[in-house]
Amino acid sequence: MKSGIDRERLKKSFEELEKYGLTDRGGINRPALSDMDKGARDTFCKWMKEAGLKVRIDDVGNYYGRRDGLDNNFLPVVMGSHLDTVYYGGRFDGITGVQAALEVVRSLNDNGITTKRPVEICVFTNEEGTRFEPSMLGSGVLAGEFDIDSVYEIEDMDGIKFGEELERIGYKGDKKNRLTQADTYLELHVEQGPVLEKENMEIGVLKGIRGMVHLEVTITGVKDHAGPSPMEYRRDAMMGAANMIAEIEKVAYEVGDGTTTTVGKVKTIPASSNVIPKEVRFSVDIRNEEDSLIDLAVKKIKELIIKISKERGLAYNIEDFWRVDAIHFPQKMVNVVEGSAKERKYKYKMMVSGAGHDASYISMFVPTAMIFVPSIGGLSHCEEEFSEFSDIEKGVNVLYDSVLKCANR
Ligand SMILES: [Zn+2]
Repeated sequence: MKSGIDRERLKKSFEELEKYGLTDRGGINRPALSDMDKGARDTFCKWMKEAGLKVRIDDVGNYYGRRDGLDNNFLPVVMGSHLDTVYYGGRFDGITGVQAALEVVRSLNDNGITTKRPVEICVFTNEEGTRFEPSMLGSGVLAGEFDIDSVYEIEDMDGIKFGEELERIGYKGDKKNRLTQADTYLELHVEQGPVLEKENMEIGVLKGIRGMVHLEVTITGVKDHAGPSPMEYRRDAMMGAANMIAEIEKVAYEVGDGTTTTVGKVKTIPASSNVIPKEVRFSVDIRNEEDSLIDLAVKKIKELIIKISKERGLAYNIEDFWRVDAIHFPQKMVNVVEGSAKERKYKYKMMVSGAGHDASYISMFVPTAMIFVPSIGGLSHCEEEFSEFSDIEKGVNVLYDSVLKCANR
């Protein structure tokens, strides 16, 4: 099957969109709902219109382009991802999936193909969650995980509200434009890990996405002068937290089977070199492909926090901040992607995503599959993030073939 994917055109579209947020070191700084995000949105919507798509925006700022099918009463086949980045992020995370979707549409146009079902592109708002926490707000609203009015109230570090920013950049659309049903959802994404490159594979066929739990922990002790307070009389929140964090790493090994635990954020109050901290707040991120193992790790982590707090006379508060269950994509969807990779004679690997994606939420109401392309050096969420266009092209071919199969069913 000839797809007519045009690598040069794809590359040029990447370069065009990179104007919005390109950093000195070759990354992209395009936090959600910033001016840079607006620039990328405006350009991408213009391209969708030029490709003959009907563009619409929903109330959380997700934007869509719909290509008519032979019978528009059929549910659409949807491709999607995101164009926002983490602060000083890379040129490929999310962007690759959105560009791939557009390239699929452009190739369908070139080949004069009208599919039986409509084909739709969806670009999700605030996937990264670095400006407005938590992640995947756009797809999460569609899945009914977040209430839109509370999403509008979320503030960034400067106290600017999500709803105000959405309105300011002109992307507060209509609730009736939301994606509520679809035949299938397909998302191409860069791997963001080293496995495909290390194993010399061209395509990752995803079986699912690891579940994750995010805890927010606050440890409270007694603030005191660093000089006159003997060690034995202290109730030092930092020493308690440090102890806990070291133990949290051990839990990952104890539970095993690919469990990961990460403490990525620590805040000290007051943060002063000669004051014993009164309060330490830290995040804990726990992931596995089986929910039961996540639950076990969470239980062990909570127990150790309680134990160490008691030993040191500290108070603790553990907030279950966020949870996404592990996802197992439907076998028939996995088969579509695997079949496409096989027919193209690509070297592919069956795998499970370690990171969350918009597909996590969309899979709650639409049969979903994902395609990975290699990330060089496994680097992601940094300016050095890189994927080869020869690899991306293969991924787009698999996406193209999979969309055709689903859209002509
Ligand atoms: Zn992403």
